[in-house]
This record gives sequence, structure tokens and C-alpha cells, in this order.
Amino acid sequence: MAAPQPLQLFLFIDRLASGRESLKQLQTQLLHFQAECPFDLDVIDVAEKPYLVEHFRIVATPALVKTQPAPRQTLAGHDLLGQLHHWWPEWQRQLQAGRPAEVISSPLADSLTCTTEIVRLQDQIFQLEQDKKQLQGQVRFRDQILGMLAHDLRNPLTAIGIALETLELSQESRQEDGEPRLTPALFQQLVFQARRNTRVMDRLITELLQASKDGVARFVLTPAPVDLASLVTEVVAQVQPTAAGRDLTLDLDIPKELPPAFGDGERIRQVLINLLDNACKYTPSGGRISLSVLHRTTQKIQITVCDTGPGIAPENQERIFESKVRLDQSHGQEGYGLGLYLCRQIVQAHYGRIWVDSTPGEGSCFRFTLPVYRG
Ligand code: ADP
Repeated sequence: MAAPQPLQLFLFIDRLASGRESLKQLQTQLLHFQAECPFDLDVIDVAEKPYLVEHFRIVATPALVKTQPAPRQTLAGHDLLGQLHHWWPEWQRQLQAGRPAEVISSPLADSLTCTTEIVRLQDQIFQLEQDKKQLQGQVRFRDQILGMLAHDLRNPLTAIGIALETLELSQESRQEDGEPRLTPALFQQLVFQARRNTRVMDRLITELLQASKDGVARFVLTPAPVDLASLVTEVVAQVQPTAAGRDLTLDLDIPKELPPAFGDGERIRQVLINLLDNACKYTPSGGRISLSVLHRTTQKIQITVCDTGPGIAPENQERIFESKVRLDQSHGQEGYGLGLYLCRQIVQAHYGRIWVDSTPGEGSCFRFTLPVYRG
């Protein structure tokens, strides 16, 4: 006689469905049986593993599938507990008896014996496919960002090149009287232009290095095209009751032709909520908050949240983006000084920039940029 096969059961459940009490009773009974006679039980949420539902042809939940010992059997529908009580002695008998060797080696028995392994492999394949999709999305995102950065760097580089070329030419081709072609003022202007553009390039490179150091390492984004108009409208509707409760007017300005942004919609939502929450928190009642979106360059979209609050002194305008920094004016308001820090991490992970323009006593405008999606 062949060695007895272990008992293998799969319990399919739907966590969102009603009937929790009967499911609990079923699980308790299975635990009792397991104490009597140990067996393998995998509990599977149908929403998480639809391919297993397909594989076992499950049409109702909860459902209990016995894969070993053969033959495979599915119990489902009304009175699952009663069906389990009915079949349990028979399964015990099958376990004791084992399967005759010739049946086990039949193609059907072989395939049933392999089911557990197949299920695990399918599970792994599903996970690997998800990971692959996510990695492909990230590679695509990086590619586009690199294109965008190269584009951004080319402008100041071209300007420096032109300035240097003009200076060079002026030295080579002096006028007949021996005087250089360029006036001292023009000469100064070209040198100034070259210097200014090297600083622009330096800032872009610093931002890039910073973004790859801080942002990308900390956040794994799930980048996709983001319809900013809908996202912003949704977030504003969400914050509107808080603004109204504080007697604040909340305006929204979105251009008609707005290309999609490229990024992680949920993370961008977090940034918008943080900025709007702060605007509501720090603006005295009767004030005004406005959110506007601007397609700034072919590469970037800029989002701005302005308020008529107390404003931020110039020496604090960078500090507030650091972790756990709260200014004196925030006393009496809830918070941990982490909101803006988180916003900066998220925006940097999108290779964007976030900053504040503010005049103390008049209000603040928080601005951030996001890459445009170019399909
Ligand atoms: P929190 O609001 O939890 O203190 P944040 O990181 O969001 O932390 O903000 C840091 C600090 O920046 C706040 O404590 C506040 O002093 C200042 N701040 C943020 N937003 C505004 C705003 N809209 N107007 C004035 N000050 C602000």
C-alpha cells in the first residue's frame, strides 16, 4: 500500500462579504479538527488571489476545497459547516487507507498531488508579474526624468556657449582702429550672463543629486499619468468643509488644456492635502486660500497654494521644510513639524522642487513642480 497522503485544504473567503459569524464557526471547527489530526489549511481571500478562484472554479464563498488525498472535492454554499461534519469521517478514512499505487500514478492523481506546488508557483508568478510591472513603470519614469533634466541643463549650457563664443569673436576680430568690437558694458553683460547660467546649472545638478539621495531612496513611487485637474478638484472638495468651518474662502484655478503629470497620484494627493491643511490652520478667519495649477514649461507643471495668513520670515523660508521645525506662530495649532518635510521628500522623489514665497504679514505662496507626462 502507498504511504498515506497528507490532508490539504483551501478555504476561500471574501473578507468584504457578510456572514462573518458562520465563517467564524467554520474556522473554529477546522481548528478543532486540526488538533485531532494535523492538516494543511490555506485561507485565501478571493479579492487578493483571483487567479486561484479561477483555477479552482470557485463560484461562491466561503468554499472549502480538498486537494489531497485525491480526488479533489469542493464544498460550498449553504450549510458548509454541516457538509464539513458530513465529509470529515470520509476524509479520515481516505487518509487512513491511502491511495492505491496505480491510482496515484495516474495522470489525474499526479496532477492533484502537484496542486499545492502549482498554487504556490502561481502565487509567486503573480507576485513577480506585479513587481515587474512596478519596475517597468519606475524605469520609464526615470527615463523621462533624465530626458527632462537633460533638456533643463541644455538651456543654460547653450546660453553660456553663446556668451563665450561672442567674447572669443570680439577678441579675434578687432576693428581697424585696434579697438575691440564689444563695448565694456556689453562685455560685462556677457560675462554676467555666463556666470548666472553656470549658477543655474549648479543648482539643477545639486537638486538632481539631492533628489536621488533623499527622495528616491526613501520613497518607492508608483508612477503613472496623473489627471491633475480631477485630483486637485477632489482634494479641494475634501478640504472645503474645514475652510468653510473657519470662515475661509477657497478658490481654485485650473487651466483648460492641462497635460497629465507623471507621478504617484496618492503621494501628490498627500502634498496637496498637507499644503491646504496648513493654509487652513494658519490663516485667520475671513481670509482667502487659492490653489492654482500652471503648465509652466513643456517639461513641468507648477502647483501653487497661496494664503492670506501671517507669512513666513525670509530666514525661516528654507528651515520649515526640515524635519520637526515649527515656528513660534504655530503654537496653539496641532502638528509635529513633519508635514512640509514630507512634502519635500515626495516632491523631490518626483525630481521636482518645492519652496515658499512669502511676505510676513501678507501671506504665503507654497509652490511645487511635477514632471509632465509625455506618452
Ligand atoms: P506643522 O504644521 O505640523 O507644524 P509643517 O511641517 O506642516 O508642520 O509646517 C512647519 C511650520 O511651518 C509650521 O509649524 C508653521 O510654523 C509654518 N507654516 C507652515 N505652513 C504655513 C502657512 N501656510 N503659513 C504660515 N506658516 C506656515
